[in-house]
Order: sequence, then C-alpha cells, then structure tokens
Amino acid sequence: MSKEQKILIVDDSEMNRAILTDILGGEYEIIEAENGVEGVASIQKYGVELSIVLLDVVMPVMDGFGVLDMMHKHRWIEDIPVIMISSESGSAFVERAYEMGVSDFISRPFDALIVHRRVVNTILLYAKQKKLISMVADQIYENEQQSNLMIDILSHIVEFRNGESGQHVRHVHMLTELLLNSLMQKTDRYPLNHRDISMICTASALHDIGKIAIDEKILNKPGRLTNEEFAVMKMHSRIGADMLKELSYYQDEPLVKTAYEICRWHHERYDGRGYPDGLKGEEIPISAQIVALADVYDALTSERVYKKAFTHETAIQMIVNGECGTFNPLLLECLQDVAPSLQEELSKEEPDAFGSSADMNNLTRELLRSEELTVSGRTLQLLEREREKYAFFAAMSEEIQFEYNTSPPMLTLSPWGANRLQINELVKDPATDPSIQRLLGPQVWPEVSDLLRHTDPENPVIQYEFKLNIGSGFRWHRVIARAMWSPDEPRQYQGAIGKAIDIHDSLVRLENLERAATHDAMTGLLNRESAKKLIDDRLNDRRYNYALAIIDLDYFKSANDTYGHMFGDEVLKHVAEKLKQSVRGSDVAARVGGDEFLFFARVDEDIKPIIDRIFHALIGQYQEFTISVSMGVACSREISQNYEDLFCAADRALYSVKRAGRGQYQFYDDSMSQMLSVISPIDKTSDIVDNK
Ligand code: GH3
Ligand code: MG
Repeated sequence: MSKEQKILIVDDSEMNRAILTDILGGEYEIIEAENGVEGVASIQKYGVELSIVLLDVVMPVMDGFGVLDMMHKHRWIEDIPVIMISSESGSAFVERAYEMGVSDFISRPFDALIVHRRVVNTILLYAKQKKLISMVADQIYENEQQSNLMIDILSHIVEFRNGESGQHVRHVHMLTELLLNSLMQKTDRYPLNHRDISMICTASALHDIGKIAIDEKILNKPGRLTNEEFAVMKMHSRIGADMLKELSYYQDEPLVKTAYEICRWHHERYDGRGYPDGLKGEEIPISAQIVALADVYDALTSERVYKKAFTHETAIQMIVNGECGTFNPLLLECLQDVAPSLQEELSKEEPDAFGSSADMNNLTRELLRSEELTVSGRTLQLLEREREKYAFFAAMSEEIQFEYNTSPPMLTLSPWGANRLQINELVKDPATDPSIQRLLGPQVWPEVSDLLRHTDPENPVIQYEFKLNIGSGFRWHRVIARAMWSPDEPRQYQGAIGKAIDIHDSLVRLENLERAATHDAMTGLLNRESAKKLIDDRLNDRRYNYALAIIDLDYFKSANDTYGHMFGDEVLKHVAEKLKQSVRGSDVAARVGGDEFLFFARVDEDIKPIIDRIFHALIGQYQEFTISVSMGVACSREISQNYEDLFCAADRALYSVKRAGRGQYQFYDDSMSQMLSVISPIDKTSDIVDNK
C-alpha cells in the first residue's frame, strides 16, 4: 500500500506517539502533534488529506476536547474521523466524547491488533460514507441543474427585455451566496441552513421577474425617468410577487415563498423608506435584504443605458457611505468582508449554481439528515401501530386493564374493564371518585397507591388481593400492577399500569381442594391426618390437660348388610352430624376410619359429663337401625401430652368396651394396659367376632 493516506496523532506523550507510529506507520504517513494547538494547526494544514485523527484527551495547552471543539466550529469533524485515545473510561467521559462526534474510543494500554483494526475500519467506513454522500450529491445536483436551467431561461428573458448584459442574474446569485455565507459566519441571528442559502440564491434569479410587465420604453429609457415613469417602474416588485402568488399550486413550495419575499421586498430599505410596503429593519426578510444589496452592487458596477459602470472600489464606497440607500449594518460589514474576493469571484467564467463542491456536500448532508427525520416518522408510525395493537388486545382480553397517572390524577380503564365495572373509561381523581369508592370500599385505593409509591424503579411490580363489588356482589380479585417511574433523576413516581383478575372462582376451587386434602368428603369432618396435626398443635400448650376419645359404631356391618351400603353411609353422616353439633369451638372432631370417629378436647374441669353428653348425643334410633357406639377415652393427665400415646390408650379403652359387650364408654386405666398387652391385632378381631 502506498503511503498516500495520512494519519494525525495528537498526543503529548512521545512514547504513545512512537507506539502508535509503530503500529500504523507501515501503511500510513504519520503526522505527529504534541498538543491540541499543534493538532489543530495540522488539521488546518492537511485538511481532508487526513484519513483520521487519533486524539489524546489530557494534553497541555489545549486538550482533546478543545481540539474537538475546534473541529466542530470549522466543521472538519464532518470530513475527518476522530478516534479518541484515553486511559479514562468512565461512561460520562466516553459519552461526552461520542457526543462530540468521535467515531471510536481506544483505551490505553494499546493492543496493537485492536488499534490497527479500528483505525482501518474507521477509515474505510468514512470513505464509504463520503462516496455515498457524493453519489447522492450528484443526483441532487442533476435535479437542481434542471430547475436552475428553467429559472435561468426565465430570468434571461427578463434581462433581455431590460437590455441588461445577461450577467446581472448570475452576479446577483453569486453575490447573494457570498454575502449569505459571510453572514452565517458572523452571526446566528438568522437561522439559515445550507438548504435555505441555496434556495435564496436560486430564488434571487427571479428578483426582477415583475419587469416583464413594465413597458419596454420605460425599462430601456436612456435618460432619467419622470415621476410618473418611476411610479410605473416601481410597480415591478409588486407585480413579480403577484405573479408568484398566482401560482396557486406551488404556494407551499419553500422556493416560491422565498422568491415571493425577494420579488416583493428587494426594494425595501432598512430605514423604512423603500417600496412597495415601506418595511423597516428586520421586518424585511433577510433574503430580500441580501438580494437588494447584491442588486445595488451589481447595478453600480455594470453599464446600463442610463449610466456608466463604476469601479468595484467606488461601488463599495458608495454603498457603505449610504449613497445608494440604507442597508442592514451587519450586511455592510459582510460586503466589506467579501469585497477583496468579489471581483475575482464575479469574473469567473462558468457559474457553479451551487458554489463549491464542499457546499454541495454540506447541502447533501442536510438532506440526508432530514431523511433521518423520515426515519423517526417511521418510528412514530410503528409506535402508533403498537398502540393500536395494544388497544385491540386490551379490548379482546376480557380483563380489567388500567393505567393510572398521578398528575393529573387520572385512571384509564380498558373498554371491557370499564364495562365490567359499570364505570367510565376515564376517571378523574380516582382517590375521591364515588364510583371507585363504591367498587373498592374506603381502604383498597389508598393501600394499593401506597404499595406502588413504595416500590423502586428496579422492582416496580406489586400484587394485591381485594374484594371488588361488582353488581352481583363482592368477588375476590388480584391486581398485578407496575409502578411507572420518571426516566430522569430524581426518579419520580408517575403512576402505574396493570390489571385486575377475577380470582374468586379459582380461590373457591382452591379452598375446596385444600378442604378435600384435610377433610373427609362424605361427612365433612376432619380426616385422620389433619386431626393429628391439629391435636399435636394443641398439645404443645402444656398449661392444660386434654382428653382424646375414639368412638366406634357397634355392629355397623349389620346396617350395611341389612339395609345396604347407601343406608350405611346415611348412618355415618348422621353420626358425624351429631358429633359436630356436640363439639365446642376449640374441640376437634374427626372421622379416623370406616365407622371410627375421634373427639379431642381441652379439659378444664371434669371431663366425664362432656363425654357422657357426647355419648348420649350419638346413640339412638336412626330409622330402622339402632345406633349404638363404643367409646374409649384417654386423658393426658394420666397418659402423656403426646398424640400417639393418647390415641393408643383411647384405642385400648375402646376395645376394652367392645370386649365388655359394647354400647358404653370407658376411660383408660392401667388394668387395660395389662389386659390388652397380650392381644395382638388379629386376636383383637377374633375377640370382637367372638363377642358378637
Ligand atoms: P363392631 O361392633 O365390632 O365395631 O363391629 P362392626 O360391625 O361395627 O364392624 P367394624 O367396626 O369392625 O368395621 C366397620 C365396618 O364399617 C366395616 C365396613 O364394612 C363398614 N364401613 C367402613 N367404611 C364405610 C363407609 O364409608 N360406608 C359404609 N356404608 N360402610 C362402611
Ligand atoms: Mg364398628
């Protein structure tokens, strides 16, 4: 590779420059600068010959950001890519560098491969971009050429009638451009971009278009015009403007608007003594002010039927002295600034409709930038589509979806949600709104608001269950909501989005499921396992004594055998019902086997009357069947504060009853332990059978 491409390294450390030169010097011509000021001087000297600038941050005299500032001011940054080099890698720092237009960031210590790759990539990318810009520029140029040609033809017709040299329009165009560029450098009072400048220059060609309607005799009169003739002559500015105004199709075209301004007001004077409207100072559009000045200068320096040409110097002098009207002082300064190069510029052979190619590229950049605006237009469209999608799904989802904003306080509900709740889709001040109060009662709104307000931006989601009063009555709902926090620091709570789900049925189902796990389906009494858990829990309280009874129906098989299983079930349900009716709040009643029930209670005084009452509540006639029960009871005071021990003792007491002939209750005593210790479970069964 030839060393045509230049790289500027701006770094105060000779060591760093040497390392970078080692990495890149093989392929590129390296230019070194020791500080920002030297760097800027080199950029000024080599301009777009530089393929890239590698820029250190901390340097004496002028630092890297100072260099970037200068590159912005002179718009070099648009043509020369910059890679920033630093050991600093804080995000604010890097962000500032990128904001100032650097293409990339390389941190020290250097990795030769990475430095090389990034530099080459950036150079290639910029070259591609430049090529693209110049391609687009060519295209725009071609289009503009066409319309300029038309404007040229039109304005030459006017010139031809005026008996002018054919150069006037061209000169006014060039002068306008020179003056505008000078003005842009001097002040930002007039917010004009390259596009506006180009348009003003193009429109300037039409400034005298109204003369087409002026009598040729007046236009080309060699001598001084009479007052009447001058009055006719003066009409050209208004006529030109009217002609443009009649182009009704193009009224919104910026070019037509600018041309209108120029046609109508290029004979106004800064002191208000011009025509046709007597506008004063900045009332006159800047486009018209500039064209007026260009027009006067060119008229002075050209030969006309009624006068000889003044020299360039005299013309400038006359204008500045106020001999040819009053102009914006700032524009006079501009005229003096461009004066030295005026003659040379005006004598150039072929006019370039757009001045330099740099201007053309700038213009193109602006156009491309405005293309970006259409991209953001696309983003808006996408957002709008997202919004439509959201609205559609919200309407279809049959959910109570909502959005809440704190300021102004406003609750917005999905259409389905509003309909379900029978309230408006928009509720102002929901905290005090009566319809919300009716739905939620007094507590829910403040509690949910509080929960949301106390989330933080990292964990903004809350869940809350509450009862919602919808028409038919209260139903359990679960709200899932996400608090919305402002994006900027300090983060502020701004509201929430979320939905409320009706969980009533599933909650009931869950309750039923839980119930099924802990209760006996047929009798509705606790089952054996959950009774055990509950009793274990109660026994933990050692301050009290407890009694546990096991109840077994006598000869229950015969109920089944005689009247059928269904009847047996009825008997069991009947007994369970009786048991339920005779237990107090803290007592436990359960079905622990086929025809076996359990009763557990705290013993405060004498337990015997309680057992007796229950025993008698259970026995008796159920239709044709006589219910008889056997019951064994164990007390914790005699046995222990342990479920298994109590159960076992009560069981023994029960079998003691069975053995003794059934239909009674007995409290466990030690004799039973003696007696039953020899009876195996199998023996027990045969024993019972024997007893029948
Ligand atoms: P004992 O006087 O010795 O207690 O004799 P019993 O006839 O009551 O019979 P036992 O307690 O030994 O057995 C219980 C019987 O209860 C056995 C079974 O056929 C019946 N059974 C168990 N569960 C159910 C049920 O859910 N429904 C009905 N109808 N009968 C059941
Ligand atoms: Mg039985």
